[in-house]
Amino acid sequence: MDRTFVGVPASPGIVVGPVRLLRWEVPDVRHRIIQDDAIVDEIARFHAAIGAAKERLRHVRARAEQTAGAEEAAIFDAQILILDDEMLLAEVESNIRQNYAAEKAFDLVMLEHRQQFARHAQPMLRERANDLTDVHIRVLTLLLGLPDHDPVDVPKGANAILVTHDLTPSLTVQLDRDAIIGIATDAGTRTSHVAILARSLGLPAVLGLRDATTRLTGSERAVLDGTAGVLAVNPTEPEVEAYRRRARREAEAQAQLREFATAEPVTLDGVRVRIYANVDLPEEAEAAARSGAEGVGLMRTEFLIVGRATMPDEDEQYRAYRRVVEAFGGRPVVIRTFDIGGDKLPAVGYPSEPNPFLGWRAIRMCLDEPELFKVQLRALLRAGAHGDVRIMLPLVVSLDEVRQARTLLTEACEELAERGAPFRADLPLGVMIETPAAAVAADSFGRDVSFFSIGTNDLVQYTLAVDRGNANLTSRFTPLHPAVLRLIRTIADAARAGGLEVSVCGEMASDPLMAFALIGLGLRVLSVAPRSVALVKRIVRGITADGASQAALEAVDAPTAAMAEQGLRRRFVAALGDAPFLRGGLPGLA
Ligand code: PEP
Ligand code: MG
Repeated sequence: MDRTFVGVPASPGIVVGPVRLLRWEVPDVRHRIIQDDAIVDEIARFHAAIGAAKERLRHVRARAEQTAGAEEAAIFDAQILILDDEMLLAEVESNIRQNYAAEKAFDLVMLEHRQQFARHAQPMLRERANDLTDVHIRVLTLLLGLPDHDPVDVPKGANAILVTHDLTPSLTVQLDRDAIIGIATDAGTRTSHVAILARSLGLPAVLGLRDATTRLTGSERAVLDGTAGVLAVNPTEPEVEAYRRRARREAEAQAQLREFATAEPVTLDGVRVRIYANVDLPEEAEAAARSGAEGVGLMRTEFLIVGRATMPDEDEQYRAYRRVVEAFGGRPVVIRTFDIGGDKLPAVGYPSEPNPFLGWRAIRMCLDEPELFKVQLRALLRAGAHGDVRIMLPLVVSLDEVRQARTLLTEACEELAERGAPFRADLPLGVMIETPAAAVAADSFGRDVSFFSIGTNDLVQYTLAVDRGNANLTSRFTPLHPAVLRLIRTIADAARAGGLEVSVCGEMASDPLMAFALIGLGLRVLSVAPRSVALVKRIVRGITADGASQAALEAVDAPTAAMAEQGLRRRFVAALGDAPFLRGGLPGLA
């Protein structure tokens, strides 16, 4: 093996294939002056590059339309328009006339425009900075004669491992599962949106590799182990065989767990726990229902928006929600309203913000855009006619937000009634508790909502001030930190006092040890990745709620996350033994 990169295990599975390196970054441009008599040719060279870039974008657009659909592919239209912008082209020409080489002339203009857009007062215009960056990269690549490739160029059947710095929306819409079998990125973490998307697509992924794109040449073959978080470059045959054996062992462990999928999750001392599934895409609904989940504890709805250029209409949304509701045939399905912003962004028209995780995100955006929000609420109310739908609001920090949302929900009911459309008016309304503010003041929501769901991905991020998407901070993202455990206990106590159901739907619930801790903290509903349903049921059936509660009490009092983990693990192993699949990472940690 030439080299092993260790990153974040973001989506499980082991694959072997050629590396497909995608350097999607603005290249460095050397300052180069041209002679007066070369100016005319240089302008022609620049226009040829613009023509080639447009041609290329049309090709990428057409291919993305086949793999991702017309709406998603529209992301490239905005970029073609930029290349048609006469003012921009004239500025570059003027620089060339002042003896700048075409690449430098273009680079200077783009840098200035990107800065202007990034600082623009109007959010819609600020967003255009992303498209400008894509265009900047594409045209410079052509002018500098650098290798030019896009994910759509990977031929079907290539079974390639895509290695790139980060998966931007414009790269994501190009992913073709017949060509790409795994994803490795320098940036990102287990809870960043790319990871969630990879899991939804069933693509093994390792993120947070930091410098893989600069160290690889693209001619390598690699093993990508999304379960352990490893990218092993140029493995020998015996090494590949060893990974294949591990993959087989994982499959066997999964097969052994399968019998628990249909088992009732009851602890040895008779406490009934409910295990729900998280669903990120409607296409996952049937598999999630087969996983043994007793309902859906979190259906994310950002798939309707992320990477797309237009908002989905009411019918499209209704069909997507109804599919999940029907797959679960009368079992509860908690659908979360749009959590746009942070790391989940539409392709166009969304502001780029200096602090997106503290910005115009989730319920804040929905309340400021009531017409857009009501389209979703009407679709949810209509889906409610087909089963047990519950509506959940993300990133709530105050009761005012819940009350405003309820007013809009009432209006949405009136609009549907006027139209004579079938719907259910009395859908339960709940909130995600995913900020320290909502956790500490959880009791203030009590009378206005029907349930709480703890979003530990964000709760950990905001409590510890650790960006969930920053690969340099992975070891500091510690859900067992005493502050986090105490907040979770506060939320569980507030729910109990208010007579509300409370669940955990963050990734923490999918980890064996942490699921044990959560049950110990009093949680009785866990919503986990579909792949983890059987595993978490297995854990529930092997422990006592009393033992878990004693372990959790100790953990809450432990001074550090590491000490909390040590104590919990001791009791966990005493109850369940030390089988490798109970150590986390497999199958659902991701
Ligand atoms: C969370 O924050 O824990 C959560 C479940 O929501 P998301 O990961 O979509 O932000
Ligand atoms: Mg969240």
